[in-house]
Amino acid sequence: MDQKQLEQEVNKRRTFAIISHPDAGKTTITEQMLYFGGVIRSAGTVKAKKSGQFATSDWMEIEKKRGISVTSSVMQFHYRDKDINILDTPGHEDFSEDTYRTLMAVDAAVMVIDSAKGIEPQTKKLFKVVKQRGIPIFTFMNKLDRDGRDPLDLIAELEELLNIEGCAMNWPIGMGKELKGLYDIANNRLELYRKDGDDRFLPLNKDGQLEEHNPIEEEGSYEQALGEVDLIKEAGNQFDLDKIKAGNQTPVFFGSALTNFGVETFLNTFLDLAPAPSAHKQKDSEEIVKPDDEEFSGFVFKIQANMNPNHRDRIAFVRICSGEFVRGMDVTLQRTGKTMRLNNATEFMSDQRETVKTAVAGDIVGLYDTGNFQIGDTIFTGKKSVQFEDLPQFTPEMFMEVQAKNVMKQKSFHKGMQQLVQEGAVQLYKKYTTNDYILGAVGQLQFEVFQFRMKNEYNCDVVMKPIGSRIARWVDPEQLDPSMSSTRNMLVKDLDDKPLFLFENRFAENWFTNKYPDVKLTSKL
Ligand code: GDP
Repeated sequence: MDQKQLEQEVNKRRTFAIISHPDAGKTTITEQMLYFGGVIRSAGTVKAKKSGQFATSDWMEIEKKRGISVTSSVMQFHYRDKDINILDTPGHEDFSEDTYRTLMAVDAAVMVIDSAKGIEPQTKKLFKVVKQRGIPIFTFMNKLDRDGRDPLDLIAELEELLNIEGCAMNWPIGMGKELKGLYDIANNRLELYRKDGDDRFLPLNKDGQLEEHNPIEEEGSYEQALGEVDLIKEAGNQFDLDKIKAGNQTPVFFGSALTNFGVETFLNTFLDLAPAPSAHKQKDSEEIVKPDDEEFSGFVFKIQANMNPNHRDRIAFVRICSGEFVRGMDVTLQRTGKTMRLNNATEFMSDQRETVKTAVAGDIVGLYDTGNFQIGDTIFTGKKSVQFEDLPQFTPEMFMEVQAKNVMKQKSFHKGMQQLVQEGAVQLYKKYTTNDYILGAVGQLQFEVFQFRMKNEYNCDVVMKPIGSRIARWVDPEQLDPSMSSTRNMLVKDLDDKPLFLFENRFAENWFTNKYPDVKLTSKL
């Protein structure tokens, strides 16, 4: 690919994540988008055929059992002139670590809100992370076919709870059983509800009025919508693309994912406004890496073992930041300085995986991994070393002692432990003196998934004994005396053999700092 082709290809990419509170409709809207992209024949397939043609984001056994999406996955499709990558993020709060890292790999976010509920806790949490990244956020107020809250209220709530300006792109005409359509401000037209095909769109004149016969003018809801549209045009936030790009204003679309109402308009406008892949900053340096740089570079944001139960494999998910990925290319792994050949890569459409031929900046590729990669690794081609910024790490708050139920299963126990820890599914520690294993996680569900996967994928029952919630504090090895340890401040070491205390609570920590005022404790490495 020459430079011009590379630029063209990169500019076609749109890579985003959908964030929402569970049940707001993320899966449903994703399905509709896949449907427009011709990836599935009819929306509803993904949910209906969990074990069939499309395994979707919800492919793991445990996800079926618990009815939640545990892991992030990637979906790629072509729509209009764009190549789209959707990165799925699990909505469940215990999986925040994985989700946060996924949000580091996207250029924009779509926030789906249930219009009957407004902003819910998990939306708020995820929003915060996206906001920190300063990327554009597009809002879809879903479930308009149900009675929801006043649209003006919903927009005001964005400002109050999330501190972001909302700019209405369309406006509901009626709601619930009375839903008649949308007043499409952005495209100056009406979109009628429950009508297929292009005749559902009615053009408006330059004053924003219908010239021809209005099929819904009899309804009071139309007059009300017009009044509200006038109000927001005058007193609402003015559309400002610069603010949108910086994540300070969010375009707001109303619709109903389930009845496929307003989703196509949303997708089209989103693709017009969402940014192509952006430049990436390097660690401890002012230098940036531009997406159309000739040399290839990317970073690993996720590692997943056993994605396909029929093939025992491990996949490192790489966000390409610059250049073109070509199968069989040699890259340098920044952390070790070693060169490796990338022969085996995969594109994602859940378990219908196709082997990648080329991919460019903005795309996500999955590399079959035999244990070379860690989360946060940078890989690059060319002589000039590249290192992207560190991915956020979270200090675990809950801990468990863990061992194999059957001592004869030590081998699979160690293998499973090693792989799942490398994935970043849980954190592993060892007791300082006895080397007994201790697992740390941000939430309880992570332990359950760990236990389940150890049995399912490694055929190893594990016994876990809760130590409860603890405060992890690293300590300078020079200052450490193992006799400082007690049950209230258990001394352990992390994967790099660095020592830390797990304090029972704040009192235990305060007691310790009073007793050893010179010993420096840090909450993160
Ligand atoms: P997720 O947890 O955010 O992925 O949510 P889902 O897409 O699985 O949707 C949760 C539930 O809400 C499902 O029962 C959907 O059928 C339903 N749902 C999604 N979108 C709509 C909508 O626009 N209207 C209505 N009435 N229900 C919806």
